[in-house]
Amino acid sequence: MVIAIDGPAGAGKSTIARSLARRLGFTYIDTGAMYRAVALWALRADIDVEDPLRLEQLARQAEIEFAAGESTVRLNGEDVTAAIREPRVTQAASKVAAMPGVRRAMRVEQRRIGAEQSVVMEGRDIGTVVFPDARVKIFLDADPQVRAGRRAAETGGVVDEVARELAERDTRDRTRAEAPLTQASDAEYIDTTGLTPEQVEEAILKIVRERTSNGKGTH
Ligand code: C5P
Repeated sequence: MVIAIDGPAGAGKSTIARSLARRLGFTYIDTGAMYRAVALWALRADIDVEDPLRLEQLARQAEIEFAAGESTVRLNGEDVTAAIREPRVTQAASKVAAMPGVRRAMRVEQRRIGAEQSVVMEGRDIGTVVFPDARVKIFLDADPQVRAGRRAAETGGVVDEVARELAERDTRDRTRAEAPLTQASDAEYIDTTGLTPEQVEEAILKIVRERTSNGKGTH
């Protein structure tokens, strides 16, 4: 079973997806970490992050693993959990994520992971492209200023700078030709602006129960 959670940065996807997975005994998969890992490799290898052919090659060769209760990300055997969160990697990730060849390589991997086990998978195109038949699809959103505030609190950044960075990345993610960030027609929209993580989790658990009971409302 796949629970797909999509939405812009800072909407609460990672926090919610991680705790939901723990609660349900599913595997948590952060697909943004996969694009970040490819971007990190490109930056370290001094490969132009605007070069689609080289990037596709890297994406195909990258061995990306989630370990230690899915909280550790490994790239080609190395723990890159902290390195992929650097601001330069964040910006590069949303550039490499616009490339169809890179997305194709990541999609193959994401579908393989989802076919092997029950997952809570979060990203931008999970409900629309990667698993269009997912039983449960959630689109998380929140006020841009609140999203920036959350991200700034996590990273120790300045709210205004973080807000600018998020807006730039959101625009790139929403307007790209390949698998843009958008809500699937059969996804449930949740605005997390005034909600605690516990309230969001409860709302999602209710949807999970509805969509999995007696095949009613399933997709
Ligand atoms: O979720 P996170 O902010 O870590 O993702 C980093 C970048 O990876 C996003 O800005 C987006 O460009 C890209 N991404 C994507 N599709 C996904 C997950 C992430 O394009 N499913």
